[in-house]
Amino acid sequence: MQDYMIRATAADGQIAAYAAVTTQTVEEARRRHGTSPVITAALGRTMTAAALMGWQLKDENESITIQIDGNGPVERIVAVSNCNGEVKGYVHHPDVDLPLNDKGKLDVGGAVGLGVMSIIKDIGLKEPYIGRTHLVSSEIAEDLAYYFTTSEQVPSAVALGVLVRKDQTVWTAGGFILQMMPGASDETAEALQEIVSNFMPVTEYFAMEHTPEELLDVLLSDFGYHILDKKEICFHCDCNKDRVSRALLSVGEAELQQMIDEGETIEMSCHYCGDKYYFTVEEMKALLAQGKKDQD
Ligand SMILES: [Zn+2]
Repeated sequence: MQDYMIRATAADGQIAAYAAVTTQTVEEARRRHGTSPVITAALGRTMTAAALMGWQLKDENESITIQIDGNGPVERIVAVSNCNGEVKGYVHHPDVDLPLNDKGKLDVGGAVGLGVMSIIKDIGLKEPYIGRTHLVSSEIAEDLAYYFTTSEQVPSAVALGVLVRKDQTVWTAGGFILQMMPGASDETAEALQEIVSNFMPVTEYFAMEHTPEELLDVLLSDFGYHILDKKEICFHCDCNKDRVSRALLSVGEAELQQMIDEGETIEMSCHYCGDKYYFTVEEMKALLAQGKKDQD
C-alpha cells in the first residue's frame, strides 16, 4: 500500500486532525541508511511527524525540518519535508544497538538521551523561523506535543510509531497529530484527551491493517468530523551533483587542494539519501577555481 496521510476537522472546527501511514517511506530510509531497529524507530517517528507537519506549509518551495540533538548514542536525528508529502531524513549514528526498554519496546528515549528539539520552518524569508524546546521524554511524540503546546500555544496530542520485524525491515509505521484550535472548549479538549489516552499504541493499531481513515474515525467519531483531503507520502531527496559539490567546496580550500594533490577520484554521499557522487581530479580543480572566483 502506498503511504499517505489524511486531514480532518472535527467538533465544528475546534479540532484539526492529521493521520498518516508511512511504512514504505520509513523502510526506504532504513534501507538507504542501514539503521538498526531502535534507530529505524527514532528516524521513522521523526520522518512521520515531519510529513504531517510539512502538509501545513503553503508553497512547495517551503520546508520544515525537525532536528533532534541529544546526548544519547544517536546524537542527531534530522527529517525534512515539504507540502507535497516528500520527506527525507538521516541520523548521525545509524547502527546504535540498545537493549529493549523496561516496557519491552525499542529504546528510542535511550538512543536520543537528553537534549533539544528544533523545528525549522523555511518559508523563503531571509532567515528561517526556528522554534526550540528541550526534550521531555526523548520518545519524540511527547516531545513534539510539548513543542506544539508550549512553543506554538497549540495544545496537541501526538502519537508516532514504528514496528520493526525480526529481520529488521519495517512492518508498519505511522502516527497522528490532533490539535485544539483557538476557541476550542475545555469540554472538547478533555473529551478528546480521554479518548487519546485510552487508545492503543498506534503501531499496534496499524499492524492490524487499519487505515488512517479508520484511525481518525475511532478518535473523532464522538465529535462529528469530516475528512478534508488526502496526500501521498514518499521518501524523496532533492540532492544533485551541484548541491553536493557545494558541500565539497565547504570542506575548505586547503582540504580540497589536498584531495587534488592525492590525484584520485573521490566519492561523496548525500547525508539525506546516501546517493553517491563522484568527483574527478579535473572536476575538483574546476570547483576550487570556481570557489576562488566566487570569493573575489
Ligand atoms: Zn540525497
